Formats: sequence, C-alpha cells, structure tokens
Amino acid sequence: MRSLHVVIPAMPADKSALRPETLTAQGMGRVAAPYRDIVPPIYVSTTYERGADGSFPGGRGYSRADNPTYDQAEALIASLEGAAAAALFGSGEAAAAAAFQALGPGAVVLAPRNMYWGLRKWLLDFAVPWGLVVEFYENSSIDDLAAKARSKRARLIWIETPANPTWDITDIAAASAIAREVGAMVAVDSTVPTPLLTRPIELGAQIVMHSGTKYLNGHSDVVAGVLAAAREDEFWQRIRYIRSGGGAILGPLEAWLLLRGMRTLHLRVGAACRNAQAIAERLHGHPKISHVLYPGLATHPGHAIAAKQMRGGFGGMMSLRIRAGEEAAKQFTARLRVFKRATSLGSVESLAEHRASVEGPGTQCPTDLVRLSIGIEHVEDLIGDIEEALK
Ligand code: PLP
Repeated sequence: MRSLHVVIPAMPADKSALRPETLTAQGMGRVAAPYRDIVPPIYVSTTYERGADGSFPGGRGYSRADNPTYDQAEALIASLEGAAAAALFGSGEAAAAAAFQALGPGAVVLAPRNMYWGLRKWLLDFAVPWGLVVEFYENSSIDDLAAKARSKRARLIWIETPANPTWDITDIAAASAIAREVGAMVAVDSTVPTPLLTRPIELGAQIVMHSGTKYLNGHSDVVAGVLAAAREDEFWQRIRYIRSGGGAILGPLEAWLLLRGMRTLHLRVGAACRNAQAIAERLHGHPKISHVLYPGLATHPGHAIAAKQMRGGFGGMMSLRIRAGEEAAKQFTARLRVFKRATSLGSVESLAEHRASVEGPGTQCPTDLVRLSIGIEHVEDLIGDIEEALK
C-alpha cells in the first residue's frame, strides 16, 4: 500500500527565493502523494501506531504533541517571518502565555504601557502572582525602555507595534540593540502588521507572536495563535513543551482553516492598508474628530519609525477620538451601519467598538476613543458610513 503521508515539494528547494505573495497563495506549494492534492487533508487522528520495535515509523505519536495538519501553516509562517520554526497554539493568548511561562518565575519582563488589554490583564492577574516581575515602559520612548532594561536586569522585552488601541510605535531595531546590551530577549506581538508589513526577526527579535484569529486567518471564524522563533534553542524547546505539556493546542480543523485563510493574506492586508490610509487621510482634520490615530499619517508621532520598519503599508487598524467626548463616541458607534459593532480585528469585514467599554474597569483607553478595524469593503462605503454617523 502506498503511504498517504509522503509530501512532494513542488517548489524550488530554496523557498526563501520565492516572494511572500507566492508562498501564501500556494500555502507553501506542497502537493501530497498519492493523489497529488493541492489542498492538504485534515488529520483528525489523535494517536499513531508504533512499529513492532516500539518506534514511531510515521514520526508522530500523539496529537497533543503535534499534528500533521499544523505542518504547512507552521512552515508558511516561519518562512514569512524568516524564522527557524513556528508553532501553532489554541489562541493568541495561549501563544503569548507560553512565551512568558517559558521564562520561569523570578524573571523580569518589560512590557509596553499600551498593549492588548487582555494580555496586560493576564500578566497582572496571573503572571505576576506566579512569579514574573513585570515593569511597564512607555511604548514610544526608547530612553524609558533602555533605563528600565538596564536597571531592572530584564530577561524579556515584550513589544507590540502598532499597539492597541492608540497604535503607538516602538522601534524594534533600537529595542533589540538595548536587549543585546543587557542580555535580554525581544518578543514582538506582530498581530497587527502581520509578517507582510514587519519582520521583527530581521530587526533583531528572537520571538514573534501572532493572534492567528486576526489577519492570518482573516475571516472571523477561527481562534488561533502562533509563536515563531529566530532559533530552535533551549528556550524554544521549553515553549514547545509548554504547548504539549499544558495542552494549549489548536484543533486540526482550525489549523486547516488558518492555512486556507493565509492563502489570501497578501490580498487582504494590501486592501485593508489602502482602505485605512484613504480613510485616515479623509478624516484627518474632520471638525468632529480631535485625533485620527493611524501610523500612516505624517502627523502620527510614530510615523517616521513606522515608515522605517513597516513595508508596503501601515496596517488596517486605526482609532478615532471624538471631540465631543464619551457619549458622542458611543452614539457614533451606535449609528454606524456598514461597520459591525464587534470586538476583534483583522478580518475582511470592518468592525468598530467603543474600546473603553470593551476593556471595562481599569481601562487605560481614552473614553472618547472608537477603535476601527478596516476591512476590504469599498472604501467609499466605509467613509460614507463614518461621515453619516458623525453627523
Ligand atoms: N494580541 C493582539 C494585538 C490582539 O488584538 C489579541 C486579541 O484581540 C491578542 C493578542 C489575543 O489573541 P486571541 O484573541 O487569539 O487570544
């Protein structure tokens, strides 16, 4: 009987020679024997037969350790990031948690003051009582980051850029230089730019994290997470053990959907960037809006650094601060018709939310701020919706 597991590479051996658009569109371009299928199967088996000698001839033992459905998605993300390896997780939060847990209790972590609130909350609610020492730095102040990294003997510098929900920019290359000086690692939550706009490992980071729930999948129908690593070192082995030992795994259907979503990543990210840039430029100076927070605007404080470390666009995320304050911001959100009032980001459909209400008590988000995830709809429909809701 012929093996169903043999994978025939249909592309040149040196995949790095191919452009991201080709790698994503073809999902790494693999064709499997014996049917030479273009789309990989979903491997649902939880367990694999041993040979008579007790070994695993198929190279797999149990699906909490690994699943063949992950292979192509992980290879594609590693290739796009210029990473040595990537690992899928059950969510972005599970991926981030694995990176922090791999440090062990007692380690000092620097995290940005503005970051995805769910992860900030997990750090404070879980990681600190567990034993991590967490210090917050000003997102766009390399001086603040440097002073804290030096005085606190940081083991890990966590970066999110552009950062939720104000889209502050952190200079990854400058932060990595400081990390090298003090012997720390840099990990970047690169969910918003995706590997198509920013490649943190090229800028000196060791770990890249994504909520695969967002742009990578791109259709609001999968919760997933990813870590990618510059090296398959001991720290990476600890991360992999946290995934298998702690069971923070992705289901095979979700892994398959994630790869399917990634095949159009370049088209979706390009369209979202173009729409967001046009919307930000059109709304800049609108009398009802005090700030259009978008790194693609020359007036954004992080624009010069964003232009240096983001290629091909400034992403699809922006926030509007409504001049008349909190109630007006809520009313604006309530009047939107094309934008859906929902949390999350990075999907084909545009979403809007009054962010402080979503984050709840303890939020640091300005109460006049409405977060917009710009999708791939016709840009004039989106602008018309915003202008109508502002009236
Ligand atoms: N990082 C960022 C920037 C996010 O926006 C989110 C979710 O909104 C996460 C991480 C967490 O990802 P997940 O919801 O997949 O756990």
